[in-house]
Amino acid sequence: MRNLKTFFIRTYGCQMNELDSEIMVGLLEKRGLQRIADENEADLLLFNTCSIRDLAERKVMGKIGKMSTKSKRAMIGVTGCMAMAKKETLFRKLPHIDFIIGTNNISDLNTVLDEVLTTGRPTIRTDDQFEENLDYLAAKRDDPVKAFVSIIRGCEKFCTYCVVPYTRGQEVSRSPESIEEECRRLVDKGYKEITLLGQNVNSYGKDKPEWNCLFHDLLYRLDKIPGLARVRFMTSHPIDITLQLMEALRDLPSLCEFVHFPLQAGSDRILKKMHRIYTIEQYLEKVSMLRKIVPNVSLGTDIIVGFPTETEEEFQQTYDLFREIGYSVAFLFAYSARKGTPAFRWKDDISEEVKQDRLQRLLHLYDEMATEEKKRMLGLEMEVLVERRNRDEAHLQGRTRCWKKVIFPGTDSLIGTLQKIKIHGYSHQTLLGELFN
Ligand code: SF4
Repeated sequence: MRNLKTFFIRTYGCQMNELDSEIMVGLLEKRGLQRIADENEADLLLFNTCSIRDLAERKVMGKIGKMSTKSKRAMIGVTGCMAMAKKETLFRKLPHIDFIIGTNNISDLNTVLDEVLTTGRPTIRTDDQFEENLDYLAAKRDDPVKAFVSIIRGCEKFCTYCVVPYTRGQEVSRSPESIEEECRRLVDKGYKEITLLGQNVNSYGKDKPEWNCLFHDLLYRLDKIPGLARVRFMTSHPIDITLQLMEALRDLPSLCEFVHFPLQAGSDRILKKMHRIYTIEQYLEKVSMLRKIVPNVSLGTDIIVGFPTETEEEFQQTYDLFREIGYSVAFLFAYSARKGTPAFRWKDDISEEVKQDRLQRLLHLYDEMATEEKKRMLGLEMEVLVERRNRDEAHLQGRTRCWKKVIFPGTDSLIGTLQKIKIHGYSHQTLLGELFN
């Protein structure tokens, strides 16, 4: 029987995957395995994968293929969304894989390892349903200042381009008691900021009406934890951003004034085709209500350009709305069809050239607007949570409440503290400042 002593884990994709990896690291360390940084030396190689884009999948497949020839003696496991999307077919494509564990089965990691070690046969666990049985308290985090905390898993919105409802399944909320306990423990360990995670956090609690605790109720509950300086959340669906949530953003000192408010497209026809279940009018109404209630709120968005049948005129509507609304953070993508989604069956009729042209135009606008925003911040004093030493080693790095990255000179003793920083400059993606006393 193989003797596993060390493991290496590589994580692809979103924050949900990062958190799942932290839980798996905790499970493996509990088993006595040691995490190492050299993938070539590890007895167990774990790839926690992402399926959201075709490119992400191809990258993972290439990497696993390469590692299986390079590190012949290592056991190889694939977890995450690709495991759910491809299931057994992965064994055919990558015959060196020893086990596959889907997003709903990460708590089975050690049982699956035992099975592979005893039988020597490839093993798969990919349940469609998620049962709330994860040992969140075992998660092993690298970041000592900020932590992700899962509050709901799955998504039932079924946007026509998205694989998540098929890879992560139905929405399952985690109990408020369990969330609160984890947050209290994190604060006791010195964590200052918690990001509540879910594919659609504002669906929280709807699947468990008996708890009488919706998303905004949970936020009020967590705000009472002494020492919890900041709470963030991601991601949200515009349709579920409620008046109560807006009021919580106004009233709760811990809740950062930043909302990810994904628009996706600027025309009603494309939104309908995407099954986004809101109209531009409804979206704008919510944005304006939110800005009235929380005037200093910053917004983030996701946009997809080149969705099947999108005309130049419809792209222009997206472009104009993007400028009109003014986002602080934007994730901009050219559409790529994902197998297993309804949109995959439609003709991907916008050429790659046109998609890239639209994407570049929007990126250019984003760049211009981001520079304008940074100029407006010159001279302001902002609260920054100091996270780490910056890559240049000369500065510290942290984020404002509205998620702007700031670097400034200072000593390591400031890491993990909140500081007032006066902004005096900016570079491409960063604000530059100095301590303000
Ligand atoms: S709401 Fe988000 S996660 Fe859910 S289907 Fe739509 S894009 Fe995917």
